[in-house]
Order: sequence, then structure tokens, then C-alpha cells
Amino acid sequence: MSISLPKPLRTSISKPFWDNIAEGRFSLQFCDDCSRAIFYPRAHCPFCFSNQLTWKEASGQGKLQTWSIIYRTDHPAWQEKTPYVVGVVELTEGPSMLTHLLIEPSEVFYQMDVSVCFITIEDEVLPFFKAKGDDTPWF
Ligand SMILES: [Zn+2]
Repeated sequence: MSISLPKPLRTSISKPFWDNIAEGRFSLQFCDDCSRAIFYPRAHCPFCFSNQLTWKEASGQGKLQTWSIIYRTDHPAWQEKTPYVVGVVELTEGPSMLTHLLIEPSEVFYQMDVSVCFITIEDEVLPFFKAKGDDTPWF
């Protein structure tokens, strides 16, 4: 018996992010008033409190700032993928994002260049980050 993975939680605010992911596009909210990029999705800019936010396609590029190697998961469906890397990527546009990294634990290093990739698991397109330029199929 296979165990289903937990699905991303969509709210009215985060729905555009997931709709774009489903189409293979990585997007961020940008503030119309101060121009800064925002992640996670919000109703108001955390810098100037404007509610004029616009979804725009983003580079999907960034640098790895910190990480953990996961040996035991909080969900049984991920256990067969252990050990794997979860970390914080500082996106080129500025915000930080906690994400699952498709990088061998022995090859991960501080400030490594990473880029987003999209993988369909159980009919759900999910964003992961890989070492920039890595074409290894992971799943
Ligand atoms: Zn702002």
C-alpha cells in the first residue's frame, strides 16, 4: 500500500502561487508601492503595508543559506526519500524560502547556486530546488 503525500494548503492568498506552479511557473508577489518582492504570500506588503501586490514570474534562482539533512520525517510518505535536504534559499529577488532541495547531502554547501524545478507527484506539481545546472532525475 502506498501512502499519499500531504498536499499543499491553498488559501485565497496563496492560490495564485500554486496555480502558477501547476503550470510550471515560479512566481512571487511584488509590491506596487515599494517594488519589493514578497514570500510567503500575503495580503499586505511586510515592508510598507501596501495592499497593492501583484503576482509576477520570478527567476527561480537563489543561493542556499542554511539547511538540515532529514533522516526521520514527520510524514511516512517521505520516509523512503531519506536522507534528504531541507533548507532556506535566498531568492535572487530578495525573499527567503524554506524548501526541499534535491541535492545529495554530501554535496550541499553554503551559498551554493540553486534553481527551482517542478516535479509531478501524485498529480500534484511541486516546486523543489536543485544545484544550478543539475539535470539528474530525482523521482
Ligand atoms: Zn511595499
